[in-house]
Amino acid sequence: MSLIVQKFGGTSLADAEKIHRAARRAIRAKLEGQRVVLVVSAMGHATDELLSLARAIASDPPKRELDMLLTTGEQVSIALMAMAIDAAGHEAISLTAAQLGLVTDSAHTRARIQRISRERIDRELEAGKIVIVAGFQGIDASGEITTLGRGASDTTAAALAAVLGAPVCEIYTDVDGVYTADPRIVPQARKIDEISYDTMLEMAAAGAGVMHSRAVEFGKKFNVPIHVRSSLTDAKGTMIMAETHNMEAMSVQGVTLKEDLAMISLNAVPNTPGVAARIFAEVAKNHIIVDDIVQNIYDGGERANLSFSINSGDAPEARAVCERLAAKLGIGGVVVDEGVSKVSALGVGMRTHTGIASTMFDALAHAAINIENISTSEMVISCIVRREDGPKALRYIHDAFGLDKPNNRQGSA
Ligand code: ADP
Ligand code: ASP
Ligand code: MG
Repeated sequence: MSLIVQKFGGTSLADAEKIHRAARRAIRAKLEGQRVVLVVSAMGHATDELLSLARAIASDPPKRELDMLLTTGEQVSIALMAMAIDAAGHEAISLTAAQLGLVTDSAHTRARIQRISRERIDRELEAGKIVIVAGFQGIDASGEITTLGRGASDTTAAALAAVLGAPVCEIYTDVDGVYTADPRIVPQARKIDEISYDTMLEMAAAGAGVMHSRAVEFGKKFNVPIHVRSSLTDAKGTMIMAETHNMEAMSVQGVTLKEDLAMISLNAVPNTPGVAARIFAEVAKNHIIVDDIVQNIYDGGERANLSFSINSGDAPEARAVCERLAAKLGIGGVVVDEGVSKVSALGVGMRTHTGIASTMFDALAHAAINIENISTSEMVISCIVRREDGPKALRYIHDAFGLDKPNNRQGSA
């Protein structure tokens, strides 16, 4: 008997009717003879609402208590989903991470999954029930409740699909697949039928919020294809899967915008061996994830300016870490700029396909948008721009690469 993992996001569970709709889809899979595991997120914007409640109480609440609060959102959804399936005359059981044994490390608000016990799930499936798992949450070795990072119900689903050996992990959401750009910002964006794990990983890391990047990592590691599709229709969505020959022909496959960034600039850094190592060791020790790093040397090699981008949520912590370092290492000053975004073009062989970088810079020039920083890698070219310029930058770049046209091959020469 085959097994399917279906994950429903918050917008697909926003009210009672939507919960019934998701329940009907799960029941249909069950009636077709499959074992069904559902993973659900918090309803609608529940997680955001819980977060703002927390912020109304304290500007920097303890992370353990944040996790305690945020996990209630998914607990509401699993119970309501079980009730909806029961009301339709089918058997279901809701399970929290603690009940099923989804164990993470202890990094509150950004925990990583360490192991998942399948014993309880298997037992419930064996008894003929639809199993409903709370996404986004975990439990650490000492029984503390953790969360896996914003948007991480996808990761719960992909990890479960991997552990249970499901042939596919279905992600039901409010768009009918992965698009060449966020369709809310670029209305001309097109749906991508198939995308490789690697390109999707880069897109997710560069800001395509449609998938949590660690979900794609699980898919890749355990070779579980992820089908991103609409919760409203039966149309085929986007398959995230191992690379096929067809995909290689494309160069630029998508563009992304990452808005929640901050730039930290350290001015007049002593340019001596070991300084950068000390700075980034300290930053890493505080679990701050660094995006791009730029260093310029001046003053005849005596001093350097060092800038790096981080998630803006980490800005207060990064500022404190850098100010401590500045005092210790004789760094001239620390400037935190929270008004930046990053636009990226993604695809295969970006560095070797000539003309891609210049097409992107031309597009920004036409839009009269200043580039504050550039970084390139094998699959991504990114520019830091002012936050207010981000959406316009995305539309111009999408247009410049002809991504609105079917079978685009621009830049693949
Ligand atoms: P869910 O609640 O189902 O997890 P999310 O809001 O996390 O939904 O993800 C879906 C949203 O992701 C879409 O509404 C869309 O605006 C956004 N998005 C960003 N980039 C892309 C993209 N490249 N393709 C499709 N959707 C995208
Ligand atoms: N409810 C969580 C969030 O909003 C997890 C998720 O939706 O995937 O981040
Ligand atoms: Mg999501």
